[in-house]
Amino acid sequence: MQIKRLRIAGFKSFVDPADLAIERGLTGVVGPNGCGKSNLLEALRWTMGENSAKSLRGAGMEDVIFAGTATRPPRDFAEVSILLDGADGEEREVVRRIERGAGSAYRIDGRDVRAKDVGLLFADAATGAHSPALVSQNRIGAVIAAKPAERRAMLEEAAGIAGLHVRRRDAEQKLRATEANLLRLDELIADQD
Ligand code: ATP
Repeated sequence: MQIKRLRIAGFKSFVDPADLAIERGLTGVVGPNGCGKSNLLEALRWTMGENSAKSLRGAGMEDVIFAGTATRPPRDFAEVSILLDGADGEEREVVRRIERGAGSAYRIDGRDVRAKDVGLLFADAATGAHSPALVSQNRIGAVIAAKPAERRAMLEEAAGIAGLHVRRRDAEQKLRATEANLLRLDELIADQD
């Protein structure tokens, strides 16, 4: 999977709509302190499903919306779009949008989807909001200090099998529910005899 374009509007310091074409190969972001380098990475992670305001350096999720400056009023919404080359070679656009007082919602190719669908899309593509491929300044130490089980989770994610674990958990839950239904059915049949 390749990210081809990031489009940001109203997210943190990116008040005006900004389009970033991402070329193949290694991408570096350079600029003076406070110009928004970390905000860019956070825009990516947020759109991939990050739901921890703290890990986005805010107190609440609405803190990702442009809060205004001395010269510009705050915005009512933030929207970030990621354009991807899917595994099947098809382009896919993933959009997350948050409005003040109304929460956030996701779209894939213009269709409303659940957070889980976006999570699975990125997990299958061996990336995601918590992917070890997205290394912010303070996470380098975390990768080095990871316990074996955590490192295994990172490798599984890198290998693109994290999505399979989610599906297995779902399938196991359905199996347990079905087993409970069957037991109940057996009891009802026994009662009839
Ligand atoms: P450094 O090199 O110091 O790590 P950086 O280039 O990574 O800096 P960021 O941390 O991405 O910079 O950006 C910080 C800037 O974003 C600050 O000026 C901060 O005021 C601004 N900012 C963060 N959240 C918002 C928001 N909700 N509304 C407006 N501006 C915001």
